[in-house]
Amino acid sequence: MILRSPYPDVETPRTSLPDLLFGGLTPADSAKTALIDAATGHRRTYGELVSAVDSVATALVARGIRPGEVAALVAPNSADYPVVFHGVLRAGGVLTPANPLYSAGELAHQFRDSRARFVFVAPMGLAAVRAAVTEPDVRVEEIIVLGPADLHGGPVPETAYDDLLATPRTAELPVLSADDLAVLPYSSGTTGVPKGVMLTHGNLGANLLQMQPLAPPSDHSNLMAVIPFFHIAGLNGIMNLGLYERGTLVTLPRFQLAAFLGAIEQFRITYTVIVPPIAVALMNSPLVDSHDLGSLELVDCVAAPLDTSLAEQLQERLGATVIQGYGLTESSPCTHGIPVERPDIDRGTIGVLMPSVEARIVDPETGNDVAPGERGELWCRGPNIMRGYLNNPIATANAVDQDGFLHTGDIVTVDADGVFRVVDRLKELIKYKGYQVAPAELEAVLLVHPGIADVAVIGVSDAESGESPKAFVVRHDSHPDLDADGVKQFVAARVAHYKKIRHVEFVEQIPKSAAGKILRKELRSREAASLQPT
Ligand code: AMP
Repeated sequence: MILRSPYPDVETPRTSLPDLLFGGLTPADSAKTALIDAATGHRRTYGELVSAVDSVATALVARGIRPGEVAALVAPNSADYPVVFHGVLRAGGVLTPANPLYSAGELAHQFRDSRARFVFVAPMGLAAVRAAVTEPDVRVEEIIVLGPADLHGGPVPETAYDDLLATPRTAELPVLSADDLAVLPYSSGTTGVPKGVMLTHGNLGANLLQMQPLAPPSDHSNLMAVIPFFHIAGLNGIMNLGLYERGTLVTLPRFQLAAFLGAIEQFRITYTVIVPPIAVALMNSPLVDSHDLGSLELVDCVAAPLDTSLAEQLQERLGATVIQGYGLTESSPCTHGIPVERPDIDRGTIGVLMPSVEARIVDPETGNDVAPGERGELWCRGPNIMRGYLNNPIATANAVDQDGFLHTGDIVTVDADGVFRVVDRLKELIKYKGYQVAPAELEAVLLVHPGIADVAVIGVSDAESGESPKAFVVRHDSHPDLDADGVKQFVAARVAHYKKIRHVEFVEQIPKSAAGKILRKELRSREAASLQPT
């Protein structure tokens, strides 16, 4: 049975994303503050934002960027992030966002796979970018540095971003369509290593329209952007949403409780998007009581499960409505949310289907719909579903079926009112503080260690971060002394901090199917059994 949203369908946008966001700018809009960088105090009006976007686009067109070519952005949140993002799109390019804490190896994978020609980077990511661009098959032609740094003539030329901002708009900018590719975030999906998720201007624009009925725009007047723009929830769910609704976006480069609370108070924030670990920090800290958070109307918790009692306590403590949103990188991202107008809905659920999203709940073994109320895998279809994984037709076919349904890898139930609840995860993905950690990626890193004969990684539950990675390791005979610290340090030197292995268990062998596939389910049940009180 196909389940439908309680809301009427939205019209899918026919224009490009920059046109959807900035096409109808009135003089009053132009004068309005679009961005405040809480770290530096730097502000931009909508008029200044659009003119900066045009400058970056013109500078890229002058460099010969061709439609569909990729520029990477390696940066934390700042008031420049939307300038680069929309500048690249406006030039006809595609933006691939990356975590500024990535190692050179992680960046090289993304640059190589996406064939990035330009890299925009904040100073904190510059050393890793410089190392990544020298790796084999990386074809970056220019590094553009956002902010103060000593630019030096390495093998790849470096330019100051301010030089691009000073470019007058002279060149003709290309005419774009909703079908053009806009962004390439990386996600492991249900299995394997991170892959480029192809999202079009139309996918992102449709999702902004789909979010509309869930909350009144007045709640979005002053938005705090603390979750990273390099993740789709930050990029479309707060950055583009705030700009589309002509809100004022306040950016924070990272979550730090005192700065977060101070900025809510100072900028009279009405809306913010958080992840469950931020909810826990807000519940546990006495600092919350020493700030005036009275402006806060709405808090949307996304990216990982939030339980009812924590959500309810948070509502009480903040004096604001707390809702949950659900989605995936592959769905631009939102498919579900708790509408503000529905205080009756349990806060521990993911709410109802967004407009124009259709869903099925399916027995993953048989592919048949489950009986009403039963648990099954969530499949979703709609104008926000990705075009596919870049250069990976097999992974694409495994993720999106012939009828256009995305197989989410999440196990859900739905009640008679159309309210969905996430009850388990079928896929191998680990979510550490809402960040994706792909077991296959860590296993590939670990297998390079000469002392490791075989390995499997799963997520184990963790009160502070939700889940954290655990490695089951088979020692090589040549390295009988290999210990847990040795394993952890080996990984820590090669990946971003949130992907670190936090637990290690040495085993004789890894359970595998006849086809050689790791039986993660078996490891998970073994882990669960070991936690049972005896
Ligand atoms: P990502 O592509 O990084 O956004 O990860 C998507 C995955 O995050 C989903 O498939 C879920 O497993 C998980 N997720 C996102 N939102 C929620 C939520 N509200 N509750 C439970 N899991 C969630």
